[in-house]
Amino acid sequence: DFLIIGAGPAGYTAAIQAAHYGRSVVLFEEKAVGGTCLNVGCIPTKALIHASSFYAGMPAAERCGVHLEGKLDLDRMNAYKEETVITLRSGVESLLKGNKVEIVRGHAFIPSAHHVQCGGTDYEGETILIATGSEPVLPPIPSAQECGLLTSSDLLDLPAHPFTHLAVIGGGVIGCEFANLMLNLGRQVTIIEMKDRILPEMDREISQNLSMLLKRRGAEIRTGAGVTRLEKNRVWIGEKSVDCDAILMAVGRRSSCRDLFPEGLLETDRGSIRVNAEFATNAEGVYACGDCVHGIQLAHYAAACASSIVEKICSGASRIHLDTVPACVYLNQEIACVGRSEEQLKEQGVVYRTGRYSMLGN
Ligand code: FAD
Repeated sequence: DFLIIGAGPAGYTAAIQAAHYGRSVVLFEEKAVGGTCLNVGCIPTKALIHASSFYAGMPAAERCGVHLEGKLDLDRMNAYKEETVITLRSGVESLLKGNKVEIVRGHAFIPSAHHVQCGGTDYEGETILIATGSEPVLPPIPSAQECGLLTSSDLLDLPAHPFTHLAVIGGGVIGCEFANLMLNLGRQVTIIEMKDRILPEMDREISQNLSMLLKRRGAEIRTGAGVTRLEKNRVWIGEKSVDCDAILMAVGRRSSCRDLFPEGLLETDRGSIRVNAEFATNAEGVYACGDCVHGIQLAHYAAACASSIVEKICSGASRIHLDTVPACVYLNQEIACVGRSEEQLKEQGVVYRTGRYSMLGN
């Protein structure tokens, strides 16, 4: 009944849900079950942030009378991250197996509506769900490719990168989370953001407070700073430069739908698969959701969209509301938000009230 491409949060959630409705499901995956989120995204980053926070928290422990002798063992920290990923991945694999979802390993291709090819076999199904996720963007900066830029996936292997000063290009969520992680490990960090503030999608007040907290911990933050050129270990912002010994490119992620369908079969919009409000593509029975379509790139949102598609197909309606999406930024000081930001409310002329309460008081 369902041919689902990609076993990330969108794909595996849809597969399990369709199986609960008694539908037959084939799930195609070319890398690892769990997708970006479980293997090179949410989970490993949060494992490293958790592990590194013990080291960063040592001065606070001293103040409370707990004397610790800190020594970083990056190989062990890396192994802890791997163990976390492997445990969760086998959990998802067991769930899929328990729900009788057939997993086919390999690159899937959609030659036409209702058909998927993988490993020389042609599969026919009523519904195809594309959940192929995203990959890091490398912007068109002269010499970007030759400068040994690191992506977030590269940086997850900590022992392989013994740098002391990391330049982070992009002050969005991923850039800020990695900056925080590296500060926890005692490295020097410079964040370079093109817009006038870090976390530009969030309320201005959050950006300002976060900037202050990161600077207090030693980070340098350059905003309104467009990168013009890269050299090995040097980032140029017009006439000024930042010297570093590693560069993280965290300027965003783009839909990963290369070699997925023949030209003309599905409409795209700036590289992402175009869908309507019901996540239907222009081809009959072909849906897409998660990071491979335009919009919010969060694991729980991808999963919620996938659930809503399956619910509508299997029961005629979905009970899931997709208009109020929570988001978190996992730093030593955690940030959470839901719904529209204050700036968006202002832009839309909505009457609102603000409240403010100090965490110290809490
Ligand atoms: P993915 O998880 O990317 O899965 C897509 C899968 O499809 C992949 O496994 C891929 O191998 C497979 N695939 C692609 N093409 C094919 C093909 N042709 N055939 C077969 N298989 C194919 N989100 C949060 O909510 N919280 C966080 O804390 C968070 N932290 C993040 C940290 C980092 C460093 C990154 C990079 C992302 C983070 N995200 C976080 C975002 C989150 O990972 C994504 O929004 C989420 O993984 C999207 O899910 P998806 O199912 O759409 O795609």
